[in-house]
Amino acid sequence: MKTEVLLPKVFNFSFTYNSNNIPLKTGDLVEIPFGQNTEIGVVWKKKNEELKKNIKIKKVIKKIENYSLNYKLVDFVEWFSSYNMVPLGLVLRMVLGNKDKFTKKVKENFIKLNKKKEKYKLNEEQKKAFKYLDVADNKFDVSVLQGTTGSGKTLVYFERLKKIIKKNKQVLVLLAEIFLTNEFKFRFENFFGYEPAIWHSKITPKNKRKIWKGIIENKIKLVIGARSALLLPFKKLGVIVVDEEHDTSYKQDEGVIYNARDMAISRASFEKIPIHLITSIPSVETYNNILKKKYRHFKILKRYNNFPLPKTKIVNLNINKINDKFISEETIHYVEEYLKKNEQVLFFINRRGYAPFIICNKCGFKQICSNCSMYLTFHKSKNKAVCHHCGQEKEIKNKCDKEGECNFIMYGPGVEKILDEVKKIFPNNKVEIFSSDYTRKKEQTTELFKKIKNNEIDILIGTQMISKGFNFLKLNCIVVVDADFSGRGYDLRATEKNIQLYHQLSGRAGRFSSESLIIYQTLVPADLTLNELIKNNSEKLLKNELIIRKKNYLPPFVRLIAIIISSNQYNLSIKGAKEIKTQLKRIENIEVMGPVDSPLLKIKKKFRSRLLLRFKSNTLIQKKVTKLLNSLKISSKIKLTVDVDPINFS
Ligand SMILES: [Zn+2]
Ligand SMILES: [Zn+2]
Repeated sequence: MKTEVLLPKVFNFSFTYNSNNIPLKTGDLVEIPFGQNTEIGVVWKKKNEELKKNIKIKKVIKKIENYSLNYKLVDFVEWFSSYNMVPLGLVLRMVLGNKDKFTKKVKENFIKLNKKKEKYKLNEEQKKAFKYLDVADNKFDVSVLQGTTGSGKTLVYFERLKKIIKKNKQVLVLLAEIFLTNEFKFRFENFFGYEPAIWHSKITPKNKRKIWKGIIENKIKLVIGARSALLLPFKKLGVIVVDEEHDTSYKQDEGVIYNARDMAISRASFEKIPIHLITSIPSVETYNNILKKKYRHFKILKRYNNFPLPKTKIVNLNINKINDKFISEETIHYVEEYLKKNEQVLFFINRRGYAPFIICNKCGFKQICSNCSMYLTFHKSKNKAVCHHCGQEKEIKNKCDKEGECNFIMYGPGVEKILDEVKKIFPNNKVEIFSSDYTRKKEQTTELFKKIKNNEIDILIGTQMISKGFNFLKLNCIVVVDADFSGRGYDLRATEKNIQLYHQLSGRAGRFSSESLIIYQTLVPADLTLNELIKNNSEKLLKNELIIRKKNYLPPFVRLIAIIISSNQYNLSIKGAKEIKTQLKRIENIEVMGPVDSPLLKIKKKFRSRLLLRFKSNTLIQKKVTKLLNSLKISSKIKLTVDVDPINFS
């Protein structure tokens, strides 16, 4: 009998095999000959088109016993592929992973028990929230649990997970960042009394094999993971939780491009199960769905232990002129009060390294990356100029156009420069940097956390990494070194990103104190966004943002697909983009904008032109676009990248 088999390879179609008299159903895993090798594939649905006659059909070698994808996952893979315009086989590869799991044996100890559970009790508001989430678990339903940082949302959804696990079902918790999984692991252990399975791209192949098998056999019940956990072969999924749903890290920007939050909602819909989106301030899309009553919504108003939100203070840098310094006298005065009380202070500056611009003051030469159209950032710890896009590092020595060597001035602040300044102002305090360059290794991060916890650090200098989900007991004062809400012109989400960033950041202060403060140093103290933020009016800002988006025909009122055409030669990328545009215009009800040069024109030696497709949000136009793009003869000198629902426009 003929049977269709999908391979975890770049193809967007299945191959026809002879079933070899093995009884097979859709979703079964099979070993098949492919080219000179054998491969593991999945029995797929029947194809519509008949295959050409003179092709010799090979036989299935064997069925992989005990492993089979359920039909819900098969349907989801097809949806994922057509929505994100990714070949079917590549999506299947995300489900199956490495094939060595089918040849190597794994030990069966999935869950380590014997941890001591801590006792928790929900307060009245949390109980109400729990009841709101606690709906039938065999029906698709999206609910949003909103609560400010410290409101105890996590405890509410833990209770919910516990109830579903008791019914012998599996639960998945998605986290926005890999580095949060460890922080969360302890909280899960304390609550559930056993280790959750942790899934992300950095876990060892051995662990991947173990967890994958535990999940497909329904032996693992509790999985916490980053984006890719979304495609695990759950046997009996009962609920999905997306923590910090507003976080743009859910968008995968490279390789297979997709938004894990949105795809989690789709998966829940295919699985016919509820999904909970957890947030302190929802994303604009989610907020719009709450207003339209597509999503149910519960808001916890109080902080768990009733501590008030931090007070706010704007420091006008125009009045407090500080020459080549970045921290004003007024700010220093406030900070001293907190240090005196032995409490911790955070200086927030969203720039890695020492200075974002390196310019010669004799000849004007600027250090720019030779691969990308980007300024190089000076990193003092390495004494090198570094490209934050491609990672290129170079010595900053340069022969000057005037005479001798260039004399470089380091313009603008980065965490390392602020570190130097803070050390000078507070010579008796212990200061450390918290940014991705200083937390590359797990041990570095653990060590830093230990120091913060034991109060061995008085002052932290941090990038936006610090705004995410960390709890610092004694952190009661935050200084935003450079509160700039002007945004970059090309980024339609700049305002939303700022609302989120500063909201998350202020949530880091005063978790355990009634006297906390956040100081915004700024050159534009009258800025509207800033002034609504300090009044804690984030939702008003979201409403306003929706009005602006509607007026300008932007998501969520329309849908966008970005097509990035890249090439080693600028004229080829722009020419390719123009040709593709001409073809795309044949599709009805779709507006094709561009081509334009990417704001970052060159990345990793490739020039990039962008097209932007805009269409009504209720149509699934992807299939037509995919079909058209597949029919084009595209020169091998240009590369196409398709980004459905783009978030990053650089
Ligand atoms: Zn570069
Ligand atoms: Zn020079």
